[in-house]
Amino acid sequence: MYPKLEKEYNSKTLKEVTFVIDTAYNGVAETGDGKVTFSSKYMTKYPGDIDVVTHEVMHIIQNYGNGAGPGWLTEGTADYIRFKFGVDNKGAGWKLPYFKPSQNYDNAYRITARFLVWIEKNIKPDFVKSFDAQLRSHTFTDESWKNATGKTVDELWAAYSANTQI
Ligand SMILES: [Zn+2]
Repeated sequence: MYPKLEKEYNSKTLKEVTFVIDTAYNGVAETGDGKVTFSSKYMTKYPGDIDVVTHEVMHIIQNYGNGAGPGWLTEGTADYIRFKFGVDNKGAGWKLPYFKPSQNYDNAYRITARFLVWIEKNIKPDFVKSFDAQLRSHTFTDESWKNATGKTVDELWAAYSANTQI
């Protein structure tokens, strides 16, 4: 997965990454400085959820640093990548949740991911790749939505709310 994401998104990404299986860690997984920590408790309980790896290594590819953009977009993009490139989301019972009126684009993770998929399908194919590059070069702004799609993020969410099929 990692070489595939490297080729698609960031050819300058780290060439060596470290995986740690931590028996004392109570989260699911986390990534920083080229190191992914996985919870042995979680992976023992959910052995089919191997695309936790896909989500986490995308964070290494992203390498946005501090202040690059909203955290919800970083996490939404990592789940968008899991949706698009995951090797066995079905086996894990992992899918994008249906739209609900109580949601908002900044809910992060799968809710944001589905919004990104919808935008690519209905408004602007492949825009996530350009957002990813902008976030990495710290050139992403609120205007980026309008520049890419002709709509603000709020206008996009309103359009998505009105027609949620992906
Ligand atoms: Zn994440």
